[in-house]
Parts: sequence; C-alpha cells; structure tokens
Amino acid sequence: MGFMTAQEYIESLRKLKTVVYLFGEKVENFVDHPMIRPSINSVAMTYALAQHPEYREIMTAVSGFTGERVNRFCHIHQSAQDLIDKVKMQRLVGEKTGSCFQRCVGMDAFNAIYSTTFEVDQKYGTRYHDRFCEYMRYVQQRDLTIDGAMTDPKGDRSLSPSRQEDPDLYLHIVEKTKDGIIVTGAKAHQTGAVNSHEQLIMPTIALKEEDKAYAVSFAVPSDAAGITMIYGRQSCDTRKLEGEGCMDCGNCKFGGQEALVVFDRVFVPWDRVFLCEEYEFAGILVERFAGYHRQSYGGCKAGVGDVLIGAAAVAAEYNGVEKTSHVKDKLIEMMHLNETLYCCGIACSAEGKATASGNYQIDNLLANVCKQNVTRFPYEIARLAEDIAGGLMVTMPSERDFDSPEVGALCRKYFKGSSRVDVMDRMRILRLIENMTLGAAAVGYRTESLHGAGSPQAQRIMIGRQGGLDAKKELAKRLAGIES
Ligand code: SF4
Ligand code: FE
Repeated sequence: MGFMTAQEYIESLRKLKTVVYLFGEKVENFVDHPMIRPSINSVAMTYALAQHPEYREIMTAVSGFTGERVNRFCHIHQSAQDLIDKVKMQRLVGEKTGSCFQRCVGMDAFNAIYSTTFEVDQKYGTRYHDRFCEYMRYVQQRDLTIDGAMTDPKGDRSLSPSRQEDPDLYLHIVEKTKDGIIVTGAKAHQTGAVNSHEQLIMPTIALKEEDKAYAVSFAVPSDAAGITMIYGRQSCDTRKLEGEGCMDCGNCKFGGQEALVVFDRVFVPWDRVFLCEEYEFAGILVERFAGYHRQSYGGCKAGVGDVLIGAAAVAAEYNGVEKTSHVKDKLIEMMHLNETLYCCGIACSAEGKATASGNYQIDNLLANVCKQNVTRFPYEIARLAEDIAGGLMVTMPSERDFDSPEVGALCRKYFKGSSRVDVMDRMRILRLIENMTLGAAAVGYRTESLHGAGSPQAQRIMIGRQGGLDAKKELAKRLAGIES
C-alpha cells in the first residue's frame, strides 16, 4: 500500500505528457513553471502532512477496501467521524498553504460516485460500482491525485445540453464501441486540473432522456490523447515570474490553479466508465458531489481564514495598534465569522448518514447553509483584514524599489512602522494580505467562495427545498391555536 512523499508526487507529474497552454503557448515543463509550481506545492502539502506522525490520524484513514491506511484524500468515508476528520484535515492544509490545495475535488467525486454507482446498479443490474471500487483500489494503492470535474461551459443557460447550438458545450458521449466510449466537450474553471494524475468526470446538471448522451461519468489519465488544458489567469499572477521568492507575490510558495479542460474525441475504456446514459442519476450525482464540496469549504476556507486573521493581527502589531480596542474587536469579529464557517462544516458532517452503498453522506441542508455562509463571510473577513492593514497594502512600492541603491533607503525610511519591527517584515505581511484578498490566492478565498461548489442561488434553492417550511408553519399554527 503506497504513500507517496511530496517529492515523489512532484516527480510523478513529470512522467505525464499533459498538454498545457499558458499565454497562448504550449508549456513543455509545467512542473517547474513559476506560475504553475505554487499550485503543485499546495497539493504536495497533502502528501507531506500525511507523512508527519503528528498529523497521521487526521491526514490518513483506514481503507474500507483493504483495511490499510491510505491518504484521507483517497478515502471513501466510513462514518460520520470520517466526515468530521475530513473537514479538520482541510482546515489544517488551508492553514499550511494559505491557498486552495485542490485535491478535495477528487475526494468529493470519489464519495459521490461511490454511492451513486451502487444505486444505478441496483436499478439496472449494471456493474459500475464494482468497476468503481476497482478504480478506487488502484487510486489508493498509488496515492494518486485525481481531479473531480463537474462544471461544463454550459453555453446558453436557457437551453438544455442537447438543445445547445454547439453540442460540445456540455461534455457528452459521441460514440460507443465494444471497447469503450468516445467523449467530446470540456470542463471549465477546473480546480487542480494540470497537477492531477487523472481526471474523474461527472455530469453538471440533472438531465432528461433527450440529454442522455450527457449523462456520463468516467476516469482518464490527464495526458490521455485528445485532452488539452488551457491554464486560467489569476490576479497578479505574473508577479510569480519576477523571480523565486519575490516578496511582491505575498505567498510565493503556494497557490491554487484552474484550467479549461478540453476533451476532443477522448477514448475511455469500459472499465473506467461509471455512468453511461442513465440520465436520471445525473441529478443525484450532482447533488451529492455539490453537498460534499459545500461541506469542504467549511474546512478549507476556515484554514485559509486562520492565516488571513493571523496576518491582520501581525500587521496591526507592526503598525503599533494591536492594543487599540476597535482593532481588537475587528479581529474578534473575524474569528467569530471564521469559526461559524467551521461550525457548519463540522455540523453537516456530524449529522452525516450512511448511504445504501455504506459510505457516509453529509447532511445536505446543513452543507448548503455552510456554503451559503462561505459566499459571504470570507468577504467580510477580507474587508476587515484590509481595514486593519491600511491603504499601504495597495500603494507600496515593489520589492525592487526597496532593494534599489537609489531609492531603497527612502522606501525603508518612510515605510517604517513600529521601531521594533524590520520594515521589510512589515511589507511582507501586507503583501500576504494583498495576496489573499486581491491577489492570486483571492481566487480561492473570495471569488471561489462565491461560485465554487455552486453559486449562492444554488444553495438557496436547496435550502428552500430542504428547510421544512411547511413543518415550521404547522408549529406556528399549533402554538397560535389555529386549526388547519
Ligand atoms: Fe479543496 Fe477548498 Fe480548493 Fe475546493 S476550494 S479544492 S475544498 S481547498
Ligand atoms: Fe472549490
């Protein structure tokens, strides 16, 4: 049973011939590309922490297939405690990276597909679940990073997949052969696409019979013939090209990544196909994956929030205002909001229940409440961090100016804060806050908090459906003495 080290994970990516484009050019060596490497380092952290005795319980779990320990990111949840531990793990990795660490999308896809394939087989006598269990053993034994991919480009939102002018705007089956299926289409905004060993595909919406060609789930290696990845831009991303360890990056070591993943007649052998035209299960798969990923945010965003709150407190200290009552109160508010996110992540896990297949699914209502809070609280935490940091965070000169023989001394003299603090440390902490609130990491902490795992309205629909409004009305009527 294998555990990869962080270094082995990085080296394993070099063996892949993944086709990646960035700035209109093909990237020959994506592993060492300065704009891509921080995201690889973030995933590498999921391997490094699993090797650490202190984090063994949280980062690893006992496989339900073999009884041996595996990285929790490859685990099929066996209990509500597993769900809780998952959230704790995500908070930990968020704290260590200060960014999105991407490997969760695969973990969430594993668990959603595991329970759904079981139910498809029960209805149709198909063999998807056995196939998927076989695939999971393969993943666990090799400690792979798998990219769970759901979101299609979607084209005209008023039209179903099969009614789109361009049929490829949702990923679909174009051919079935005796050996497998051939698919075409794309997955957009795909977190962790480039630095994953394989892509695990799911449909993106509930489907009707006319859309059955779009009801497809499968796994393929990231470098399968016909896959092209086009790397997404992030705010301030080219600062990473300014030299290793450039202070202006704020967090030069870690980051997230997203890509457009295009499938052009990609062949998938039958043993890697986990749903093929059983359209009525597409919605269930979507709901389960979304539920897990909405739970996930209660962990990862709280972990990244811990870093941001810490950075704001350090900035306050460096400015000599740490004892000021309103600053103290803002930090308390940030902690309150951050712990509320975490509370929801833990709550929806603790209320998790076994599915028919035996793995555990979070409480869907509470997971949606969790993610709805995530669409708001990180914005307020970021606002308060910017408030405490002050305007210098966005007006300060570059690191090169501080190093300049001509103006460096001026920068150091006029940007000095507390005399107990090195002026460059003051700049460093402000750059970290900038990175997390406006820069590259803000993709994960802000906009992804809004749209990742479904935009706010998607959660409101689920809360509306599952919030039990009729039962609440009955409660009120009974107490008010209204007969109905
Ligand atoms: Fe994991 Fe959070 Fe990134 Fe999603 S946004 S992949 S849950 S770190
Ligand atoms: Fe996400």
